[in-house]
Amino acid sequence: MAPPNFEYDFKDLAGNFHGKSSFNSGLYINGEFVEGVDKTTVEIVNPATGKPLSNIPAATDKDVDIAVKAAREAFETRWGTKVPPTERARLLFKLADLIEANADELAALESLNNGKAFAIARAVDLQGAIDTFRYYAGWADKVHGKTIEVNDTKFAYTRHEPIGVVGQITPWNFPLWMLSWKLAPALATGNTIVFKPSEWTPLTAIRVASLIEEVGFPRGVVNILTGIGNTAGAAISAHMGIDKVAFTGSTLVGRHILKSAANSNLKKVTLELGGKSPAIIWDDAELDTAVSWAAFGIGFNHGQTCCAGSRVFVHEKIYDTFLEKFTKKLKEIKVGDPFQPDTFQGPQVSETQYNRIMNHISIGKKEGATVHLGGERHGTEGFFIQPTIFTDVKPEMTIVKEEIFGPVVVLARFNNEEELIRLANDSVYGLAAAVFTRDVSRAIGITNRLKAGTVWVNCYNLLDVNVPFGGYKQSGIGRECGEYALANYTEVKAVHINLTGQPPI
Ligand code: NAD
Repeated sequence: MAPPNFEYDFKDLAGNFHGKSSFNSGLYINGEFVEGVDKTTVEIVNPATGKPLSNIPAATDKDVDIAVKAAREAFETRWGTKVPPTERARLLFKLADLIEANADELAALESLNNGKAFAIARAVDLQGAIDTFRYYAGWADKVHGKTIEVNDTKFAYTRHEPIGVVGQITPWNFPLWMLSWKLAPALATGNTIVFKPSEWTPLTAIRVASLIEEVGFPRGVVNILTGIGNTAGAAISAHMGIDKVAFTGSTLVGRHILKSAANSNLKKVTLELGGKSPAIIWDDAELDTAVSWAAFGIGFNHGQTCCAGSRVFVHEKIYDTFLEKFTKKLKEIKVGDPFQPDTFQGPQVSETQYNRIMNHISIGKKEGATVHLGGERHGTEGFFIQPTIFTDVKPEMTIVKEEIFGPVVVLARFNNEEELIRLANDSVYGLAAAVFTRDVSRAIGITNRLKAGTVWVNCYNLLDVNVPFGGYKQSGIGRECGEYALANYTEVKAVHINLTGQPPI
């Protein structure tokens, strides 16, 4: 039987037509689209309406096994060190070009499946993915070892070799962009891949599988398996034939992955996990600019951003003015139909995520925090939530400690640097932070004391493909992006050359 096809006519919530999409939605294994051994499926939903979109194949451990064998064979015979690095670069550049040529369709699929605004998906997610493939294409033939002069009787050199078969598992918040962060450095360095997107948002990954086929990557180099976390995902992290797993998602699942790697073949693991990042507003900050960036810090992607500025600490001298301006700014956010050009905030990604956020809001109220703004559902259908500000919070409250992953921010005041640093670093996470001040010495001094993988000064949520990203503490292990990510996908081999020919005994 032919594998399933996904077909869709894009319409906004008012029924206006925005183009169409049609592609093969089977599991992409060894260069073919297949239904999967057990032909199991998972339903995907449009979060703007709450209505089902389609049924997508859900890979099982049997499909993972077939994909790992294909990836191993491809690694040994058609990829890795078997092809010139310039060829890997050529294919990656071509993939970037094809994604760019199909960017409107891919942005529409992202918007449809994830709920993010189409205009933002096109400008941020798609451009981010295109840039990432181009950036790592440029690296493919520039990954070198070193020559090390030891002494007159010996010299040594290192080789940076691909690791082998890599398993990659991604979340639903930036489906295509996260796919590019995974696929591009792994392919540039010569690894083969078994990739699993989130079961909630698989559409863009499946569409990219067709583009990978069109580019002409050798079969088996990239295998894309849609499926559920605790079946397909668990099978990837436990598989004895996978040499490394790269995971982005929650800290809870990150722990499972690490245990599973330890209990199987001790595969190498990199983790990009959750956060509860502080945005710090000093009393000398350019206030309107700080308000705007702080609103972007929590509002971007509906708060479903791992580095969201979900704890805002404001110097007590300007707290009241900041709160007034910040409230006005969040009230101005256009929440609604992702296909309207002026929409900034669409629905949360799923009913489960909607319920988790609403549950956190009700816990916040029960524990005595004040809902200063929002706190309710937006509209009557789909999974929309009002931008929400909590005040009167205490450090021990659940909403201050836990990642909410929605448009919910807690605001607290501070009086001096020592208190601020204590509050800001009081988290199991350490993904990101921001400091708003006009004083460069203060900015650098505070930045040095923050336990975070990224610190923004007078801005928020700005990411660049050539700048590393990753977390301190329970926000992760390793760094993605930039030159740093190449180390995630290479083994270093040290070679010692004896120049004397003399045996030791
Ligand atoms: P999640 O951990 O629930 O799922 C992530 C992926 O893991 C999905 O593909 C899922 O199917 C899979 N998975 C689930 N259970 C699994 C298991 N037992 N074994 C193997 N795989 C399994 O996370 P999510 O809800 O999709 O994403 C939100 C989380 O991701 C947030 O915590 C967010 O902070 C984090 N995130 C981090 C970064 C970063 O770069 N640090 C980026 C984006 C998202």
